[in-house]
This record gives sequence, C-alpha cells and structure tokens, in this order.
Amino acid sequence: MMFKRCLLSLVLAGASWSALADAAHADVEFAIIKTGKTTALKGMMVSGGGFTTKVDGNFSAILVKHGQATFLFDSGLGSKVAEQYQQDMPWWARAFFKYENPVVPARVQLDKAGIPPIERIFLSHAHWDHASGLGDFPEAVVWAAPEELKVIEHAAPGLGGSWPSQVSLKSIRWQSLEFKPQPHKVFDRSIDVFADGSVVLVPMFGHTPGSIGMFVTVASGKRFFFCGDAVWRADALKDGSPKFWPASLIVDKDREQTQHTIEQMRELVKLDPGLVVVPAHDDTVQSALGYFPSWIK
Ligand SMILES: [Zn+2]
Repeated sequence: MMFKRCLLSLVLAGASWSALADAAHADVEFAIIKTGKTTALKGMMVSGGGFTTKVDGNFSAILVKHGQATFLFDSGLGSKVAEQYQQDMPWWARAFFKYENPVVPARVQLDKAGIPPIERIFLSHAHWDHASGLGDFPEAVVWAAPEELKVIEHAAPGLGGSWPSQVSLKSIRWQSLEFKPQPHKVFDRSIDVFADGSVVLVPMFGHTPGSIGMFVTVASGKRFFFCGDAVWRADALKDGSPKFWPASLIVDKDREQTQHTIEQMRELVKLDPGLVVVPAHDDTVQSALGYFPSWIK
C-alpha cells in the first residue's frame, strides 16, 4: 500500500521515467553466501598480478530476493564437495585448484536462517566450484544456457567441463534458458527474469560454451553485475588483462571469446561507472559488500 502511494505521488509530481524505473525495484535485494575459500598468488588470478601477494578466492552463491520469489545464482561448494573432489578432480590439478576447510554449504546457511526452500537456481556455468551445491537443492529447478546443458550431458572427471558427481544426479531438474533477441546494455541478447528490468541474464560465452552473467538492480537503485568467471578479479577490467595465461589455457574453453567478453565488460563499466562488477571468486569486492545473512538493498 505504502509502495503504491509512493508510486502515485511520483506520477503526480511528474517524476522522470528513470525515477519510476528505480521505484519498480523497491522489493529487490541480494546476499552473498560465502560457502568456502581458497588462497592463491595474485599472479595466478590475474595476468600481471605478481607472485608475491596472496589473495583469497571465494566460493560463493548469490541469493536474490524479488518480492516473494527467492532464487540462487550458482550454488557454491556443497555438502558433498569432499567426495566430489576425490572422485572427479584430476591429481595433477589438485595443487592449483583446491578449497580450504571448513566449507559451510549454502543449504546449511539458508536452513539456519529459516529461508524457505529455493525454487530455482540459475547456473553461471557448470564448473565444479559453481555446481557443487546443486545436489543440496532437490526441490529447485536448475536453469542453464542450452550450450551449457550440452557440456553437462557430457560430464566427465577433469577440469574445464563439468563433473558427473555434481551434475549427473537424478534429483536435479534441468531447464534450458532461452535468450531473447532483446539487447541489454552491451549484450545483444537477454532474459528479463521478472519483466521489470530488475534481474536480467545475459550470455557471456567463452569461459565455457554457455557461461552467463546477471544484472541486478536493488531497492536503492544501485546496480550490480555478476560476471561469473569471465574474470576472476574485478581489477582485471581496469586494463583488460586476462587470467594468468597457463590458468586461462586450462580453464577458458575459448580464450578469444573470453577476451571479447572482457572487452564487452570494460565497455559496460565505461558506459555505467556506477555499476559494481562482482566476479564469482573476488574476495575484495565481495568482502566490501558483506556476506549473508546481511543483505544488499
Ligand atoms: Zn569458478
């Protein structure tokens, strides 16, 4: 009621369209659920990052609340991560791609906070550190780009694809995202999840064949862009540097396409300097925003 009255007074005051558009996002907020972390040399995360400074890398799931609807973007490390890692991480990669204990799965944190069951999960991509928690949400429908569903169909142990221990569970109900030929900012296709511009998914193919990103505009009007693993650190956008090349060689399916995505993001922040880019593993950006159960609105 209060909201309707606010909206009405804005109309009566002849408010600009952009003020109305912001008012439409009055019930949108998000929280970063940190499920675990790893420590890496900065030079491993971003080209030119140096090999003396150590940085934390987070494994996070993003919880978004839109009115009565609540959903996750990625699932972080799940309750079975130790078994999954044991089964599907190749031995040669274990020194470089690891996580530290303790892991606090998203499901555990949500249950503790009394958040009702999650109905849907959007997957930025199907790599092990993003899909690990899917099995903890059997009541959710998991949405991924069709190109990523093909990767999932061919799940196999190793890096660069997706793991059978995580994505081949019978309990997971997959759904294919259908991008519309509706340009959004620098992207030529998009999905406006709630048809109000507050949550918009875009294709960011390159890191994997079906990687996606998500724009969220919260109640205050502040804008965020969750770019998955297109870059590991937001610093990388300042000069367009890719990941350290051996790491990129291992994890980026299509390096040229990944670099194109980085250029698109640089263009994006140039056009909208107020936009906060949140890479999936960037501890510096995520710590500044704070973690669940605190919300960003
Ligand atoms: Zn990742």
